[in-house]
Amino acid sequence: MYILLMGPPGAGKGTQAEQLIEKYGIPQIATGDMFRAAVKEQTPLGLEAKKYMDNGQLVPDAVTIGIVKERLAKEDCKKGFILDGFPRTTAQAVSLDAILSDLGIKLDGVVNISVPDEELIQRTAGRQICRSCGATYHITFKPAKVHGVCDKCGGELYQRDDDKADTVKKRLTVYAAQTKPLIDYYKNSNLYIEIDGTQGMKAVFKAIVESLEKSKK
Ligand SMILES: [Zn+2]
Repeated sequence: MYILLMGPPGAGKGTQAEQLIEKYGIPQIATGDMFRAAVKEQTPLGLEAKKYMDNGQLVPDAVTIGIVKERLAKEDCKKGFILDGFPRTTAQAVSLDAILSDLGIKLDGVVNISVPDEELIQRTAGRQICRSCGATYHITFKPAKVHGVCDKCGGELYQRDDDKADTVKKRLTVYAAQTKPLIDYYKNSNLYIEIDGTQGMKAVFKAIVESLEKSKK
């Protein structure tokens, strides 16, 4: 099963990826991991990418695409993969099409887990972390027994700056703007599968699997 997985931060993409990996026995190919592996293996492209990363610069598309191609050609991708975090732009999507066609691979679906911003903000902005032991809570979904106090160690619970509603809102706006052209691109290719991410995790997984198997036929 060849899957491209998309979804805004907080939509539960990680959980769904884990289950897809287990169900189909395929690897998850995330951009960051791919870069780290290429750098570690000291491939020519990996070394090239490292130059940019060491300088805190964005890795140019040509290098990124080369690394993606090398990664997708590996043995563990013969049965499929879950591509996560790539492509980020329409230009990269066009390059991905060329890579896949070179490798004789056809995507089975571009799965987008869709959750309204208000819910994503509620999910993220309700997170609390214990200052002492790092245990995590959620004001609505997993509240501490005593408000603001860790059940496990009595430590003080706090909200990460990254999880504050305004920050989350800004992050989602940026994400939506960046992703819209990509979604339009895949809608035109008939590969696009939108999944309602507001259902429970199990229902989301079931919907993803059903859509993919239908699309594979
Ligand atoms: Zn604690």
